[in-house]
Amino acid sequence: MASITLQCSPKSIQQMETFYTNKIKTPPYALFSAKTDSATITAYQSGKVVFQGKNPEAEAQKWGDLPLTSKTENTNLPTNFATLNIIGSDETGNGSYFGPLTVCATYVTNDTAPTLKKLGVKDSKQLSDERMKKIAPLIKETIPYQLLVVTPEKYNQVQSQYNAVKMKAVLHNRAIALLEQKIVPCKPDGILIDQFTDPKNYQRYIQNEDPIAQGKLYFATKGEQYHLSVAAASIIARVAFLEGLETDGHKVGLETLPSGAGPNVDRIASQLITRYGDDILYKISKYHFANTKKAQQLAHKNKDWH
Ligand code: MN
Repeated sequence: MASITLQCSPKSIQQMETFYTNKIKTPPYALFSAKTDSATITAYQSGKVVFQGKNPEAEAQKWGDLPLTSKTENTNLPTNFATLNIIGSDETGNGSYFGPLTVCATYVTNDTAPTLKKLGVKDSKQLSDERMKKIAPLIKETIPYQLLVVTPEKYNQVQSQYNAVKMKAVLHNRAIALLEQKIVPCKPDGILIDQFTDPKNYQRYIQNEDPIAQGKLYFATKGEQYHLSVAAASIIARVAFLEGLETDGHKVGLETLPSGAGPNVDRIASQLITRYGDDILYKISKYHFANTKKAQQLAHKNKDWH
């Protein structure tokens, strides 16, 4: 069972007790204990609060910074992993109709970790896009990194031979291997890939690649919790994705294109078809997504009305 322990002030514990008030069942040895759908929360006199259950992060993140070493039992990472010199990698844009697929690998050591902490890199998942845009250039000045950007046009060319998972696997390996070459003679203590597929799948997809990353590979979902390198990589990848949305937006007279794959995306895509013709989407979207058909239907419906 996954478990997280936070050190909290008496005031914070009081707020917590109020927050969980109708879920409380206090055992004699604790200040209080409460049970939600995601976790059991137990607060102790010492200020320690233990969150335990199927998703302790969901509750613990309301009350404090999650410890970087908060380990769930489904990872095979060494206990001191957060303090090692690690290459971490992450990707963005895979689920978004518009915009590129971006993958980034970074190398973070004991020397550079404190600077990244000061920039707020650890909380990558809580940062606004604006904040990420501000700190990405500073991260790039601080650590070695390798960013790969697959434009929508390129994505559409390779999509028929590469399924989405294989594409990601190949890109992660490539970013990591290129970064390994950049940091020679340094060798990372390990490599952490923010997990998007089974490690066996990953190995199978990259077996014919050249070069193949040399370091010891680890996989973890929510990898940014275990090492700053993944958090930094996710920020750089995200900002490159946002820049791609803006660049492609400018091509069609918009400030930016929307991210995601929802109804708003269908609407914008249909407007672009009306204005520029069907081919425009092949250049600026992940064309095989279902959004293409929906946008075409919308565009043709609108044409009939006019
Ligand atoms: Mn990821």
